[in-house]
Amino acid sequence: MSKPNRAYNFNAGPSALPLAVLEKAREELLEFQGTGMSLLEMSHRSKEYEAVHNEAISLLKELLQIPDDYEVLFLQGGASLQFAMVPLNFLPAGKKAGYVLTGSWAEKAYAEAKMAGDAFEAASSKEGNYRRIPEQGELQFGQDSAYLHITSNNTIHGTQWATFPDAGDVPLIADMSSDILSRPVNVGKFSMIYAGAQKNLAPAGVTVVIIRRGLLETANLKVPAMLRYSTYAQNNSLYNTPPTFTIYMMALVLRWVKQQGGVAALEKRNREKAALVYGAIDASGGFYTGHARPDCCRSLMNITFRLADEALEKKFLAEAKQAGFVGLAGHRSVGGCRASAYNAVPYEACLALKEFMVKFQQDNG
Ligand code: PMP
Repeated sequence: MSKPNRAYNFNAGPSALPLAVLEKAREELLEFQGTGMSLLEMSHRSKEYEAVHNEAISLLKELLQIPDDYEVLFLQGGASLQFAMVPLNFLPAGKKAGYVLTGSWAEKAYAEAKMAGDAFEAASSKEGNYRRIPEQGELQFGQDSAYLHITSNNTIHGTQWATFPDAGDVPLIADMSSDILSRPVNVGKFSMIYAGAQKNLAPAGVTVVIIRRGLLETANLKVPAMLRYSTYAQNNSLYNTPPTFTIYMMALVLRWVKQQGGVAALEKRNREKAALVYGAIDASGGFYTGHARPDCCRSLMNITFRLADEALEKKFLAEAKQAGFVGLAGHRSVGGCRASAYNAVPYEACLALKEFMVKFQQDNG
């Protein structure tokens, strides 16, 4: 088969998948392991599917070094449903939950928590349009809080927590949708981590939840079955039909991560990739301006920047498209430009982007 013509894919999510993963899925698509059918057509109770399901769980545990007292769950409804499920399960009447507001997704999580119970702003970087991550000293929350919620990487504004906050005895819950598996994290610091799959894990359709059993045991059980974490924990995430093909794709992605040398190796590459694009911004003498504050908070995953005016941005995006770059427009809520350089985006794509940016500046600066 001829080599596919792969775009420089900087989509924010769903986003690039490793070519080797797509090729493996294609190879197995029509007949899965001698079963006479595709995995797409197979019962989620079959031993073949269950092996894939369990492989995805065990690879996640291995790659993220998840301690034994945690459950790994597969849910649907995206990270957006987690915004509601977290307070429904863990924000009882009489308690308050703290939210660190670092961008649009954090705000959405906060809005859902206020719908379900009593939530408060523990800190915010809204002033200056979320260019930074609050420092530890700015966080205000009582030690009797139900939990503290953070967004580890802010996909739209392009900021990322470099070091995670100390929540003391308060359970720390993180939305890691856009940077899970991009760097090693100390899972033990968190009572719960959740992530929509469609950036670093898989195509869209599954949400991974990593949850400490101690937290799980405190959950409110007076919520419908599909909204209770315990339903998933008690049934190995097979209470109802899971998104089998997406989980299969995740297993393939996780095998690929392992082949790449694991999460630490990916972090090294992600740093090199991001440095190329930030380098072009920083060397441009103001032709490109980065949104995230360079001294603290730049995301390795979502690199956000602007040009002098909207007309020049339009020209940049149009010429980038011509040159084979996809997904460089900023989120519709903020405009500007954004390059999402997730795990599966090759180094060569970031190098090509850097070169394109330098050339565009020479021609238009
Ligand atoms: N949180 C973050 C950090 C995100 O980037 C996104 C999606 N881009 C969401 C939550 C919402 O995820 P979903 O579309 O899976 O509900």
